[in-house]
Amino acid sequence: MAKRRRLVVGNWKMYGRLTSGLVLARDLVEQAEARKPLHFDMVICPPVTLTWAISETIMGTPLMLGAQDCHTATHGAYTGDISAAQLADLGCRYVILGHSERRLKHGESNQLIAQKLEAAQLAGLTAILCVGETAEQLASGSTTDIITRQVQECLPEKYRAAHLVIAYEPAWAIGTGQQPAPDTIAEVHKIIRQALGIAGETVQILYGGSVSPANAEAILLQDEVDGVLVGSASINSDGFWAIAEKCNA
Ligand code: PEP
Repeated sequence: MAKRRRLVVGNWKMYGRLTSGLVLARDLVEQAEARKPLHFDMVICPPVTLTWAISETIMGTPLMLGAQDCHTATHGAYTGDISAAQLADLGCRYVILGHSERRLKHGESNQLIAQKLEAAQLAGLTAILCVGETAEQLASGSTTDIITRQVQECLPEKYRAAHLVIAYEPAWAIGTGQQPAPDTIAEVHKIIRQALGIAGETVQILYGGSVSPANAEAILLQDEVDGVLVGSASINSDGFWAIAEKCNA
């Protein structure tokens, strides 16, 4: 079976204003152009306020654009929300869904995430579905059950495997400097592949949670790991590239 292409995703969260965001995007592009051809894919997910400006900046470059969330509907009376079709219209190709910050701080359920995923794929976006256990679930030994249920319940009946990426992001590892051991990450990725069934052979599975230039290589050396989803370390161009280059390891 052909090896899955690697993918590095930067989640800028709610950081960046127009000037700083454009400086970062231009710097990332400059470094991408200097390294062409890339042997992996790179996606940046800025806050939605910067989407259009960054879309213009990275058009025609190796970088691809993503968003951090979308609504379940294509349009309608949903004040403050943004649809997947609107994101696609701005040049987005990916959207992160089910991030633990949205599950925990916005009460998003697996069922809601499944509806968002369906909407994203209908709009032509690739969904980056985040799954992962909390510290309490880890302590109670329920990681396998939680992850399996998240994968099964967050996927609508007719999802498109070709437009799906899964990110294993333990909630306790996000922004904490803590991480599972690399072989534990590989084990959980295998559990995700099993839960996916036949689609598990082709769907890229990323790891996310306190990835840094110092620990990226050990994670990416795991065959099971098809790339990384990077939060805080992605808003520094040199740091993000130092992580991305470990994809060549
Ligand atoms: C994230 O926000 O998806 C993430 C992994 O954050 P961090 O890298 O900062 O832990």
